[in-house]
Amino acid sequence: MLHGNEEILEAKKHIVEVAKELYEIGLLVRTWGNVSQRIDEKSFLITPSGIEYEDLTPDMVVAVNIDDLSYDGDIIPSNEKAVHAVCYRERTDVDFIVHTHQVYASCVGTLGMKKVFSYLDDVDVLIPVAAFALPGTNQLVENVRKCIKKYPDLNGFIMANHGALFLGKNSKEAIYEAEKMEVACNNFLIDVCKTDIKHGVEFGFNSHLEDGKIVYDIPDTPVRVRHIHESIYAKRKDIKYIIHNKSEAVMTVSRRANHMRPLLYDFAQLIGISVKVPSNEHGKDGLSYHNIKKNVNVVFSLYDGAYCLGATYSDAMDVADVLDKGCIAHVAVMRHGEGHYLSLWECYKMNRFYRRSYSKLAATAKKDKKELLKK
Ligand SMILES: [Zn+2]
Repeated sequence: MLHGNEEILEAKKHIVEVAKELYEIGLLVRTWGNVSQRIDEKSFLITPSGIEYEDLTPDMVVAVNIDDLSYDGDIIPSNEKAVHAVCYRERTDVDFIVHTHQVYASCVGTLGMKKVFSYLDDVDVLIPVAAFALPGTNQLVENVRKCIKKYPDLNGFIMANHGALFLGKNSKEAIYEAEKMEVACNNFLIDVCKTDIKHGVEFGFNSHLEDGKIVYDIPDTPVRVRHIHESIYAKRKDIKYIIHNKSEAVMTVSRRANHMRPLLYDFAQLIGISVKVPSNEHGKDGLSYHNIKKNVNVVFSLYDGAYCLGATYSDAMDVADVLDKGCIAHVAVMRHGEGHYLSLWECYKMNRFYRRSYSKLAATAKKDKKELLKK
């Protein structure tokens, strides 16, 4: 329980520190995930919606009513506030919540399992999985509620095809749960799915546009690769940066001529509804053949990783990062022999919503920040 404005201000500062710490250690990406703290039995503080963690300041942390989700001010609280609220309602012992899109837990959450048995060092770990529902819906809140009610002694939950949720008396407990789950899920992927892949982005040939001209990071980028970059910039006028990701997971998927349907919510939002890996290296022009599509931010190259597209460097890096996670999930599902794919309709809804609201929210957030700074 927090008392008075001073304690609330301190809590806001602490929430920002925790969010930045989770961002630094890679458990939070882009604007996904959120951190909250209970004020009292009626309200809680939560990180805002659509703001990059680097830009986050304590003024942007919003107080939200636990029962009706109302809040004061112009800054919009996280889209997942209802999930936090239901946890505070169901679990009166919980004062701090962290929701992440962390890599290994998210990947395990695509296997279609209701609970996962794994281990950490020599200790057995049980991880319940809340069923998937579209983010921001009552169905998702209900799925999470059922799951935490069923396991009242546990503090770490996977949200299927989405991410994970951690409860604690304080930030230390919640972060500990997040780290513990990540190791336990990696152990599960290695032992059960035979997927021992480190998450990351490995650069191949990157480029960006400068005054309309393509600038390659590596001066002697081969002609074959230059042709791909040229085709992408020619077809996608919205793109200014291309990151060629040759990470182990992306390379593995690029070796299988296939169609990648989204397994994860952030993949459907940021990358696209369906991504094709070309089955043929050569197109009609005798040069390489690639699927360059309007609303798909990844272009796979057969046997050679994938090009990740963005209007800014950080957009392209986020695409590369989310793609790598999506590819680990893809490989794990293939090797596990089963998984739960998101439906085309779900992907379509999430992708459209994201493209519409993300730019708007990010712009509002920047404006809000400037105004706050002026005050
Ligand atoms: Zn989320």
